[in-house]
Amino acid sequence: MKILVLNCGSSSFKYQLIDMDNEKVLAKGTYERIGEGNSFLTHKVNGEKYVLENPVDSHKDAIDFALKQLTNPEYKVIDSLDEISAVGHRIVHGGEKFNKSVLIDDEVIKAIKECIPLAPLHNPAGLLGIEACQKEIPGVKMVAVFDTAFHQTMKKEQYIYPLPYEYYEKYGVRKYGFHGTSHMYVSRRVAEMMGEDIKNLRIINCHLGQGASLCAIKYGESYDTTMGLTPLGGIPMCTRCGDLDPSIVTFLMKNENMTADEVEKVLNKKSGVLGISGVSPDFRDVEAEKSNGNERACLAIENYNYNVAGFISKFAMAMDGVDVITFTAGIGENQIKIRKGICEHLKFLGVEIDDEANNVRSEERLISTKNSKVKVYIVPTNEELMIARDTKELISK
Ligand code: AMP
Repeated sequence: MKILVLNCGSSSFKYQLIDMDNEKVLAKGTYERIGEGNSFLTHKVNGEKYVLENPVDSHKDAIDFALKQLTNPEYKVIDSLDEISAVGHRIVHGGEKFNKSVLIDDEVIKAIKECIPLAPLHNPAGLLGIEACQKEIPGVKMVAVFDTAFHQTMKKEQYIYPLPYEYYEKYGVRKYGFHGTSHMYVSRRVAEMMGEDIKNLRIINCHLGQGASLCAIKYGESYDTTMGLTPLGGIPMCTRCGDLDPSIVTFLMKNENMTADEVEKVLNKKSGVLGISGVSPDFRDVEAEKSNGNERACLAIENYNYNVAGFISKFAMAMDGVDVITFTAGIGENQIKIRKGICEHLKFLGVEIDDEANNVRSEERLISTKNSKVKVYIVPTNEELMIARDTKELISK
């Protein structure tokens, strides 16, 4: 059974075609800069990369072009689109309506539309992907997999904000959390690696990428997470600020004469590690500057490690202890010094890192010492595989 996974952003989309008989990726790619006049597709098959320039104005045309490459005899991926059994769509926001993945029908599309105010950039892009598939491969079953669904197990005292209750009732202002597919994949995978039943484990997963969130996974379910109403909250990120004193927003509006949109842009695009260091949003550059003695680069990294460790400590409290800490995504998988720096703050929990084991990038591995009271692992995430597995399960029912 072959499943196509689509992840649509506002001006880009990523895809993977996965053979679910052996979970092998047959082809994958990214279409960038849709509607910007210089769009191109990077199509990868068997480790070979093909960059195909093809300006398109819409997701429909971009998806149409990508699908043509899947059947293009030059790349020998599939002979016909009929071989695609189903499409799994990553949808960012499912609000309170979806606590698991669902088969897409008119009702589901309507509900995704209703969640647009909660994710004004992301949900419309997901809908464009669904519409494009309805036109290009009509009749193929489709599944929606929501970033928010995994966190619907949080208790109300964890997700409610201390604001007038009417905003929760009127607009659904509450903590939702994101990266649910990654948190679910990593927690299940680490339980498998340990040969333990996930129902016996308290796991804290650190998904540290451009966007970053932590999740406390208690006995297999999301118990708490760092992102909130939107993916701006929680730990500091590459360019996003994470949690702040909320008065900073009105302070900037008054003192810098900024509009709400301008403040939003600063908090999303100019803050976090980039904002403090002034160097770059990329941790590789900031680490290099830190080694050159750049004080602000050093400060940005210290602040990052302190905040991540702070949330890990809070979640350990929330679950009455922690058995496993996992690191995943670009930074979590690759930044040796960041993992070490975060864990240095966690000695009080009995966390002890094995420096030799930690000296690795993007590999599934235990990186804590034998004596460490909490096990620490690197587990490369695989959101696409998780989406494909959910899709397979739903269409097989
Ligand atoms: P993601 O959003 O998961 O792709 O993570 C992106 C971030 O991960 C980048 O900004 C880098 O800081 C970091 N990163 C990605 N690859 C590497 C690598 N090979 N070595 C060190 N850091 C990396």
